[in-house]
Amino acid sequence: MDFADSPIDAQFRAQAREWLAAHAPVTRGRGRVAWPDDATLVAAAREWQSKKAAAGYAAIALPREYGGGGGTTTQQIIFRQEEERYDVPFGVYEIGLGMCVPTLLALGSDKVKERFVARAISGAEIWCQLFSEPAAGSDLAALRTKAVKTGENWLVDGQKVWTTGAQFSDYGLLLARTDSSATKHAGLTLFIIDMRAPGVEVRPIRQLDGGVEFNEVFLSGVMIPDEFRLTVPGGGWAGAMTTLMFERLNVGANIGLIDSSTLIDISRRLETSTGRASDDPHVRDIIAQAYLNDRGLKLLTYRTLTNLGRGQLPGPEQSITKLVIASQAQLIANLLLDLRGQEGALVGSALGDGWEAVERSWSFGAAMRIAGGTDEILRNVIAERVLGLPAAKRDDTTRPFNEDAA
Ligand SMILES: Cc1cc2nc3c(=O)[nH]c(=O)nc-3n(C[C@H](O)[C@H](O)[C@H](O)COP(=O)(O)OP(=O)(O)OC[C@H]3O[C@@H](n4cnc5c(N)ncnc54)[C@H](O)[C@@H]3O)c2cc1C
Repeated sequence: MDFADSPIDAQFRAQAREWLAAHAPVTRGRGRVAWPDDATLVAAAREWQSKKAAAGYAAIALPREYGGGGGTTTQQIIFRQEEERYDVPFGVYEIGLGMCVPTLLALGSDKVKERFVARAISGAEIWCQLFSEPAAGSDLAALRTKAVKTGENWLVDGQKVWTTGAQFSDYGLLLARTDSSATKHAGLTLFIIDMRAPGVEVRPIRQLDGGVEFNEVFLSGVMIPDEFRLTVPGGGWAGAMTTLMFERLNVGANIGLIDSSTLIDISRRLETSTGRASDDPHVRDIIAQAYLNDRGLKLLTYRTLTNLGRGQLPGPEQSITKLVIASQAQLIANLLLDLRGQEGALVGSALGDGWEAVERSWSFGAAMRIAGGTDEILRNVIAERVLGLPAAKRDDTTRPFNEDAA
């Protein structure tokens, strides 16, 4: 296998690197800037998005006719690898451009594509994903939010939770139950929902790290026009799988968690009561494990890039990436903070260069072990779909949902 970029991709990488060096904010370690409030974050993200859109980097793999770059998924990944070196505003457009817009392009009518795609790519409109509910996360098909057809509209009632960015989103992808008498997976339909419509109430959830990245969303008598329906009634599960397939490509990448290079860098600079941290046998052991994990993930990325280059879709083996990155980032962050002793309890910025990233990985690593599929669910996926082990027994897929949920 050739691990180098193809000549065209190498040229693309060099151009992207040059453009980022000229236009991106200054690198500040491998952490993310903490934004004081949503308004500042959204304003900075809009500005960065419009700069990228003007240069053709806003949505590299999406079609030119909608303002995308008309490039390849490989180039999109290359740009993201390069962009990760900078503290660019993060988290505002990732779900919209990484998951919602590709779903609209795959499933939407021409009218839907014309209305929404270019405005999402330019950054004018922000999107979120309303799938999870209080009793439907890993078991997404158990969701209870109902959509009932009334004339040319659908009337929606229910509750979503963990909806990232809902507080500043204009539109969302909504998975709702339209037929409770069908089996669990067969009674669902995928819609576009206007997040400013009457009856949509967004309640932000404050996190351990002080930020507010996700929300509860209450839906009471929300009217959705039938032209905002993305799948046939009852075809929502396949539609949702389209969205989750695109999520698989994005998940694990660009989440700003620390890796072995941060551990090596900081432990070389860190003096402990017993000497330099990088000379400690326990630290060296973890450096070796983390380095090997990172090399393995890099090889997995090359494999994905090769498959994408051959026109194949991302496979279930992509589930390995987030599983490894998130738990390893937590392990490294815990180790480094422990090595600082009592000082480790101070805020990252007080600890010195690179420590904000450590602090963020300590708190955000936990969230990333849940988002986009928990560790246990990813292990199930790897066991069943990568290693070919027997599937877990299920007895809830053949009965009507209203019997099962009663
Ligand atoms: C940072 C973050 C952002 C998110 N953003 C969004 C978003 O934008 N939109 C959205 O719709 N959702 C979002 N989510 C929700 C996310 O998809 C769910 O949290 C996730 O799917 C897990 O569901 P749950 O929280 O209901 O946990 P549960 O499914 O209730 O799981 C609880 C525990 O049981 C375990 N478990 C469950 N089933 C099994 C099984 N079959 N085998 C073994 N163990 C099992 C789980 O691993 C977990 O440890 C986000 C979550 C986080 C943390």
